[in-house]
Amino acid sequence: MAQPRTMKGTAVAPGLALGPVHIVRATPHVVPTWTVPDEEIEREIARLAEAVDLATDELRRRQRLVAAQSGEKDAEIFSVHRHLLNDRTTLRKLEGSIRDQRVNAEAAVQQLIERFRRTLSDLEGDSVRDYAADFSDPWRLVLDLLMSHERETIASGTGQVVLAAAELTPQVATYLERDRIQAIVTETGGRFSHGAVLARSFGIPCVVGLPNLIARLEQGMRVCVDGDRGLLQLRPEQEDVDQFLARLARRQARQKALALHAALPSETPDGKRLLVTANIESVRDLDTFDVTHSDGVGLLRTEFLYMERNQFPSEDEQYRLYRQVLRRMEGRPMALRTLDIGNDKQLPYFKVPKESNPALGWRGLRISLQWPDLLRVQLRAALRASTHGQLRILLPMVSSVEEVQEVHRIFDDVRRQLHDQGYEVAPNIPVGAMLEVPSTLFVLDHLLAQVDFVSVGTNDLVQYLLAADRDNPWVARLYDPSHPAVISALGLIARSARAAGKQSSVCGEMAGDYATALMLLGMGFDGVSVAPNLLNEIKYAVRRTPSDETQEIARAALAESSSEGVRRVLQEVRERLHARQVDHNLQEAAIQDGEADEPSEIRE
Ligand code: PEP
Ligand code: MG
Repeated sequence: MAQPRTMKGTAVAPGLALGPVHIVRATPHVVPTWTVPDEEIEREIARLAEAVDLATDELRRRQRLVAAQSGEKDAEIFSVHRHLLNDRTTLRKLEGSIRDQRVNAEAAVQQLIERFRRTLSDLEGDSVRDYAADFSDPWRLVLDLLMSHERETIASGTGQVVLAAAELTPQVATYLERDRIQAIVTETGGRFSHGAVLARSFGIPCVVGLPNLIARLEQGMRVCVDGDRGLLQLRPEQEDVDQFLARLARRQARQKALALHAALPSETPDGKRLLVTANIESVRDLDTFDVTHSDGVGLLRTEFLYMERNQFPSEDEQYRLYRQVLRRMEGRPMALRTLDIGNDKQLPYFKVPKESNPALGWRGLRISLQWPDLLRVQLRAALRASTHGQLRILLPMVSSVEEVQEVHRIFDDVRRQLHDQGYEVAPNIPVGAMLEVPSTLFVLDHLLAQVDFVSVGTNDLVQYLLAADRDNPWVARLYDPSHPAVISALGLIARSARAAGKQSSVCGEMAGDYATALMLLGMGFDGVSVAPNLLNEIKYAVRRTPSDETQEIARAALAESSSEGVRRVLQEVRERLHARQVDHNLQEAAIQDGEADEPSEIRE
């Protein structure tokens, strides 16, 4: 039976796109495996041969270089490596894997390296093991060349593409310059994974959870991506394209209509304010929205500034970046979150030990406090930049009061040191904690006494509260921001922060849904921080909802005992707002809200 041409996945970032697909076969950490069609087997073997030739040339070049610098003897290893690469038995084995298993060259080489590794782990003695490791080294070079070849081909092009990958990682989301990525579609990845967070923040439509996606695509195949409804249509026909273009036009009209309200403050008709700030990852993000229409930056994820480099950025480099962001904010507050690496956010030049539970491991503030020099350099850079705007410091992954006290000690010390060195530093720099680890809820009053503000990182808080990994598709149904435990935790935070007279906001992705944002306002939060392309949507919803109604939404959500009940409350909010809508250009909201009919399945 013909396979359906429309695949249904999980909508991760809204928007529509139509274009040729580019399959990202590789990310730096993942060696891709795919099935090679019969007619392409010979081409795959030729790809392997080409990569072996290139690696041989590269080894010859390195041999010459090392011979010139430190003598022939030291350079001999490269000659051994060249012989290993051209060993006939090994080459025949690799060709056999490609032919018999119909796998791509990268997968065949990876299997070979794995075999070397297994042999190696059985061997006794360091020198024998080192020798065995040498066997796989030239093959790693071949693997690198196989994987980079395709990357270079696409990177040297200019057209826009829909990226397709097995997994939605931060590396996939940053694979090309963002204006060349029309959409992203992947087999796995959760709505709250960092790759998804990036796609949303870049405003790139994204659909995940499309099983067997890569096997069903061909490089360059035309596809339609519907990031509102989580649909991917393969090889659309003219009629589908026409429908798509009509929807796109409606969507653009809606964005335009929303933009007309964007300059107005984010307050309810009776004057209750909800601060609406942006989550950003780089200075470039500031070009994607009008900062004068925001209340500032509520979350600068600084780790992405680190991820774009080959080594730790120096104090001066960081200083210049932070200064630039502060200046661009023109006096609006900017919350700089200190480095939050670990888990899926890895720096190529900072090796975190392999952990069996990385989400519960060495990440965020834990790394910064164990390597205080990292934190010191970052704080020095930030404090030096503080005179150029309204800086706030936000600490990720706080799990105890003592951690915050330790940061205060380092902070005061850095400030003193800068003062002694003659630097000017702004007098009042608020320090806040991200509430992401459930332990903070049970020491909340003590914690609030130590900070100037709190920001709830619901992406992590939900995963830790519900013991459901934010990146694991097998527990995606359990990772549920509508869970009454999450709603209750949010209610507690809003109440406690208010009682302590400290500002509170939510910067996790759930705040980007306007019905949820209204609930948060009703609970007593002072602000939400969201992907820049959602700012207008939220402000518009706030401007149409009286404050007593937001309190009623919060009360209703807090009274529910099931996720379904909470979702129903929020859906009613959307329907109510939709019904109040008079401007037909703004009615596209209904589709985003999931009221649209499921499209009928199109078959080949
Ligand atoms: C969060 O956990 O909600 C958050 C905003 O931080 P990140 O998504 O970067 O972990
Ligand atoms: Mg987090």
